Amino acid sequence: MELDRTMPRRSARQLLKDEHGRVDIKSFDLPSLTRWMVDELGANEGHALRLYKSIWQHGARSFDEVDDVAKPIRKLLAERAYIAFLTPMTVLRSEDGTVKYLWTLEDGLTIESVLIPDGERLTLCISSQVGCAMACTFCLTGDLGLKRQLKISEIANQPLQIGRQLPEGERITNIVLMGMGEPLHNFENLVSALEICLDENAQNFSHRKITVSTVGLVPRIAELAERLPVNLAVSLNASSDAQRREIMPITSKYSVEELLEACRKFPLRRGKMITFEYVMLKGFNDSLEDADRLVDLLAGVRAKVNLIPYNENPDRDLKRPADETVVAFQEHLVGRHLNATIRVSRGRDISAACGQLGKASRRALDAEWLRVARDIAGLPAL
Ligand code: SF4
Repeated sequence: MELDRTMPRRSARQLLKDEHGRVDIKSFDLPSLTRWMVDELGANEGHALRLYKSIWQHGARSFDEVDDVAKPIRKLLAERAYIAFLTPMTVLRSEDGTVKYLWTLEDGLTIESVLIPDGERLTLCISSQVGCAMACTFCLTGDLGLKRQLKISEIANQPLQIGRQLPEGERITNIVLMGMGEPLHNFENLVSALEICLDENAQNFSHRKITVSTVGLVPRIAELAERLPVNLAVSLNASSDAQRREIMPITSKYSVEELLEACRKFPLRRGKMITFEYVMLKGFNDSLEDADRLVDLLAGVRAKVNLIPYNENPDRDLKRPADETVVAFQEHLVGRHLNATIRVSRGRDISAACGQLGKASRRALDAEWLRVARDIAGLPAL
């Protein structure tokens, strides 16, 4: 079989090596893995395909497990590459079935993923960065600042490793990029990782079941649409530039109108809509005038609004509106023909809510918290 020379090369930036100079084999998609194995190891396309399936479909942890690849090739692989994995630190299970996974990365930093069962659906919320540069005032992850970008393997390993731990017959049905970080701020690694999630030879998720949530890095929204047919969610949270700027500094760079213009141009398949997340803050964005402005703003966009009553925490003065206020806001939107739902808070007893991940990670470093966490998770004390 002849190698297709039009296959794209991974850039040097993405081809990360460890301290022994070995390549992170999970940073390759299939075309670039094939090219690398042919050029560097003298292997063929069949070897690459079998290796790719072994690591992404069967979770192979060492090249020895890939026994349908010839032994000399496996030896070369072990010398020049490694199979990256996230190290599980803690698993917390909420009373409502939500499960939070805390992972340690190679450099000791931590990230989290949250698994949310909801009827037939099993949604996995994954992280794209360690910390975040966007500094949204209501979000505790923003307090960390951006520590670093996650590698392709670190993003794609979250669904792989959690999926492989599930009881037989259960499968992750949906992936949402709503964990730590702004996914479009780690654009190339995000796209490469999602390609691996979507590839039928790898994790084989449906593009209809993957949603990328962004604060609105406007040029990247159009690029995302060009590169991947996934769903879009926008963290909006306000109905005017001035109001949004107070809680989301990104608004100084891209106005609400620019953001919505990008949303209007975002290609949507039949029956699909863009989800607009709206964190409701008492006395700030929860009035019926806010609701009216929101309806006007979203005119012409195939939109559904997900109202998220703020989850109070001691590090913020921000307050959660009364339940009646949230319901009145929703009814007002629906009364004006805007599709709107209220998000039920999941996993509150394990700090699984959006924006609490970073804080939880830092707490994980606290010995007492860690002791309690391990106890809840049924793990032995350290
Ligand atoms: S809400 Fe999202 S984009 Fe904003 S600081 Fe938090 S993690 Fe970053």
